[in-house]
Amino acid sequence: MSEDWSERTKAVHGGIRRSQYGEVSEAIFLTQGFVYDSAEAAEARFIEAGADEFIYARYGNPTVRMFEERIAALEDCEDGFATASGMAAVNGALVSMLKAGDHVVSARALFGSCLYILENILSRYGVEVTFVDGTDLDQWRAAIRPGTRAVFFESISNPTLEVIDIAAVSALAHDAGALVVVDNVFATPVFSRAAEQGADVIVYSATKHIDGQGRALGGVILGSREFIRGTVEPYMKHTGGALSPFSAWVMLKGLETMPLRVRAQADTAQTIAEALEGHPALARVLYPGLKGHAQHDLVQAQLGGRGGTVLSLDLRGGKEAAFRFLNAMTIPVISNNLGDAKSIATHPATTTHQRLSDDQKDALGITPGLIRFSVGLEDAGDLIADLTRALEGLG
Ligand SMILES: *Cc1c(COP(=O)(O)O)cnc(C)c1O
Repeated sequence: MSEDWSERTKAVHGGIRRSQYGEVSEAIFLTQGFVYDSAEAAEARFIEAGADEFIYARYGNPTVRMFEERIAALEDCEDGFATASGMAAVNGALVSMLKAGDHVVSARALFGSCLYILENILSRYGVEVTFVDGTDLDQWRAAIRPGTRAVFFESISNPTLEVIDIAAVSALAHDAGALVVVDNVFATPVFSRAAEQGADVIVYSATKHIDGQGRALGGVILGSREFIRGTVEPYMKHTGGALSPFSAWVMLKGLETMPLRVRAQADTAQTIAEALEGHPALARVLYPGLKGHAQHDLVQAQLGGRGGTVLSLDLRGGKEAAFRFLNAMTIPVISNNLGDAKSIATHPATTTHQRLSDDQKDALGITPGLIRFSVGLEDAGDLIADLTRALEGLG
């Protein structure tokens, strides 16, 4: 593989390993173990395994390795460790580096399970976590202190789609000697250059755009070779959050088409957001690609002006209108994944964010009328017609 390849070439050829059969499509090495030629060879491999030598699938596997190398190449990171889910990646990235007495600063607007790790789990092991409004640099500045070990945030927040300034937060964190861990799911490797902008560690739920077709759970932790092999691998290989070779193969093949899919989905999301903006039934259309987005300049600088594949619609009629709207649409499915080929509509207040108190929902802008809409690969005209008809039905 060449470092000079651009995204689409890396997505198709990055990390490939061919067996003696010269297969064109990547092989699924559905094996937990590997045979050694001799007792001496087994001993040698346990002392130090070479790049093409594997010991046990909890530590590594050729198909999993292909996925890790392909996504690391796309993200321009030195290395990656694949995990059983996005949450195994978030947990692995944080827990592998933290110890009792450490301090972490995190954005408050987080995917529910990320919030659970930071709020409920880390504190049990003596890690202190300070939460801030991720869009307010003064709050980051005030919270980060000498001895802060890590900062954590989702670069585009769920479900209100606020954008956090990776370069500015990274500069503040690095001044204090802290590592920057970014959950980059909503931005995708296609639109965000998080490593280039200062992130030290990038985590993805591969369940979303990387699979992109709703089939398998997976995740990945990306960073420097030293961090991935020195800090993450020892934790992951002994605690068992490895990605299965079969799921790794699904993700590997998903990566081949990810740049094409994600760009097409984002084009449609932009078209829908512009078509629905100003509709009388809607109090707000939230989409980073809209000119009126609160962080328009940051979206240009950090995401190349692209808003991603998810938009949120805030219906004036509250929960009742939101439910009628959800039930009236015929193309999008009501579910809670995102980044899928099928458009997916979610009512965060009663599903993904149900656990939050009313005060927390208010603070995060999760109103009763808010619908999160993950735009799929369907025709933009068909989707706009369906959404508009469902909105007209609200009267
Ligand atoms: C889905 C998601 C996760 C968790 O990923 P799983 O694969 O479901 O474990 C973490 N962070 C964000 C932002 C997500 O959207």
